[in-house]
Amino acid sequence: MTFMIEKSDRLKALPPYLFKEIDRQKSEARKKGVDIIDLGVGDPDMPTPPHIIEALCKAARDPANHRYPSYSGMVAFNEAVAAWYQKRFQVTLSPETEVVTLIGSKEGIANIPLALINPGDVGLATSPGYPVYNTGIQFAGGQTWFMDLYKSNQFLPDLSAIPDAVAAKAKLMFINYPNNPTSAVATSEFFKDVVRFAEKHHIIVCHDAAYSEMAFDGYRPPSFLETDGAKDVGVEFHSLSKTYNMTGWRIGFAVGRAEVIQALGQVKSNIDSGVFQAVQYAGIAALEGDQDCVAAMNLEYTRRRDILLAGLREAGLSVETPRATFYAWIEVPKGYTSASFASHLLTQAGIVATPGNGFGAPGEGYIRMALTVSVERMKEAVARIQSTGF
Ligand SMILES: *Cc1c(COP(=O)(O)O)cnc(C)c1O
Repeated sequence: MTFMIEKSDRLKALPPYLFKEIDRQKSEARKKGVDIIDLGVGDPDMPTPPHIIEALCKAARDPANHRYPSYSGMVAFNEAVAAWYQKRFQVTLSPETEVVTLIGSKEGIANIPLALINPGDVGLATSPGYPVYNTGIQFAGGQTWFMDLYKSNQFLPDLSAIPDAVAAKAKLMFINYPNNPTSAVATSEFFKDVVRFAEKHHIIVCHDAAYSEMAFDGYRPPSFLETDGAKDVGVEFHSLSKTYNMTGWRIGFAVGRAEVIQALGQVKSNIDSGVFQAVQYAGIAALEGDQDCVAAMNLEYTRRRDILLAGLREAGLSVETPRATFYAWIEVPKGYTSASFASHLLTQAGIVATPGNGFGAPGEGYIRMALTVSVERMKEAVARIQSTGF
């Protein structure tokens, strides 16, 4: 006898998945044999650099790495993180107390609300934004208060728009610069305001820095922790995924205020058992190795970006030049919504772009394109957009 399965209230309460329609159109076009150019997904198309793969292979052959790892990360990996941080941001971290290894930064972002939020508490999150901020807060029983990002404020949240009653109930704040999906970058003045706000309202800042190394034209994104007082109010999430083309490997880390790192580690010790040590050795090779691979990757994204942006502008579309991240955040032309323009590009030109409203209501009126196809394919994409018209 079979019986009805009812999903938990937690799952039922999740917001509707707004990429469903574009996903359906994409698979329909695939079935028809359309030559699709997929600019929809934020997943690097380039391979992991060879010296990192070598380190994995070597470590995988050592039986010492076949056992359960430490849930908080190997000492050697956490030390490599602290050394990288010192060199990259001139921020000093204790590898013992201020670093925790993550199974990709998504894991830490999803779990940190469990460490900090009680039912009824508020979590603040940028919108449009990475959907995990909201789901993490909701899974912990919290309520998300969205900080809307608008072009008029350079896609930075207006902290003065957060009502005092909301700030009083808020336990944590997710921010993310360089930003997905808008590709906006933060000023040090903004980070200072965030620290002041967090100190005033006793809010823990969770800065998602997944794109800190993906930047162009000589721009070097700052760490939130460079800001005076930031390490007292917050933590920062990093990922090797985008920096070293390692999205499939699942390794990242969180750093910052020791009690927060410890609390996140406590959640993790009850849920997972850490990152495969061979992957951590590969991570050490990435962080300690020559960073020329990162520079080469950014140069390639710059070439693609310049082709896409010039082509979009020639077609009459309005878009700002990203200084970081591999996303272009494009205003849809008059007469279209995010969904209808994404659908138009897919059905008329075989190009997949992500409708901006799927990242949150203020994303309506935009589509996102990722720089994750070769220069050749990007030229083809641009030619198709221009000949399709709108
Ligand atoms: C890609 C991405 C991440 C997560 O990457 P992991 O692979 O889980 O380390 C986190 N935040 C943002 C905004 C991202 O785009």
